[in-house]
Amino acid sequence: MQVPASFDYERAASVDHALSLLRRHGPEARLIAGGHSLIPMMKLRLAQPEVLIDINDLSDLSYIRIADNRLCIGAMTRHADLLASPLVAEHYPMLVEAEEVIADPIVRNRGSVGGSLCQADPSEDLSAAFAALGASFVVAGEAGRREVQGEDFHLGPYTTAVEADEMLVEVRIPLRPSMGSAYEKLERRAGDWAVAAAAAAIRLEDGVIAEAGIGLSAVNAAHFRSPQAERRLVGNPADQATLAEAASLAGADCNPSADQRGPVDYKRHLVSELTLRALVRAAASANRRI
Ligand SMILES: Cc1cc2nc3c(=O)[nH]c(=O)nc-3n(C[C@H](O)[C@H](O)[C@H](O)COP(=O)(O)OP(=O)(O)OC[C@H]3O[C@@H](n4cnc5c(N)ncnc54)[C@H](O)[C@@H]3O)c2cc1C
Repeated sequence: MQVPASFDYERAASVDHALSLLRRHGPEARLIAGGHSLIPMMKLRLAQPEVLIDINDLSDLSYIRIADNRLCIGAMTRHADLLASPLVAEHYPMLVEAEEVIADPIVRNRGSVGGSLCQADPSEDLSAAFAALGASFVVAGEAGRREVQGEDFHLGPYTTAVEADEMLVEVRIPLRPSMGSAYEKLERRAGDWAVAAAAAAIRLEDGVIAEAGIGLSAVNAAHFRSPQAERRLVGNPADQATLAEAASLAGADCNPSADQRGPVDYKRHLVSELTLRALVRAAASANRRI
């Protein structure tokens, strides 16, 4: 049986309290939200925090609401809440589609949006979905709150812009009522991590793509995005040729590794195919929303 190294335990009563505990205990302290990523890593001794700061009492960080024309999601919102949210389904059904294929109900009931994003696993689904939607991230620290733009949040595998004495408190997505979105993932079996996944978001104006976001997961795309595919889409009609060319660019705009889920060429092909499927559905949805 794998057992974590010993650690001290603190329970935060508020965001300010969590931040003061982080400062007091220094970089060897770690926040724990749902624990679905951190505890397995501790059991494997890949993480050996000296202090765990439990943030499960911070229910004021569990919300999904609209404010200042943005969809705002608190960091302690559980996967299951995102999956069940009528607001999310109305504005960005892609997020519901992504949640449907994240793990299983046990993980989704406890795992949090903030924990997923801060874990920054390269195969994480929400990171790709949020990247396609142009999300930004609110980080709290001693000096107050700062908003980190999407590209600046994920700095690499398992690394984010959140410093050791800071915490993520909110994800913000600008509201665009006419934006269509879709998520496509291939997994080896239900609930598994992605072999590859693609998120597509499209907004049309006068028959032309005015805004586009392409997010990719599990294939080492920088910041979970495909800028080449996005550039190919914007300013062009959402016809089959444009979508297919953008999808093919997405396949080139990533850097998959060969592993037990498949060789590099297969994964690149998969990225193009999944991106095309997501784009076709996102464009159809955008057409209905005009
Ligand atoms: C069996 C299994 C299958 C899974 N399958 C998938 C899948 O298919 N797709 C997918 O995307 N994910 C998958 N996951 C990952 C799952 O979504 C994450 O483990 C989980 O959501 C992480 O959230 P958590 O609240 O449990 O984070 P925790 O494990 O509590 O924390 C993870 C990390 O984030 C930090 N952290 C947590 N909250 C904050 C915060 N607010 N601010 C700063 N740092 C913070 C912690 O210190 C820790 O370093 C799977 C997990 C399991 C166990």
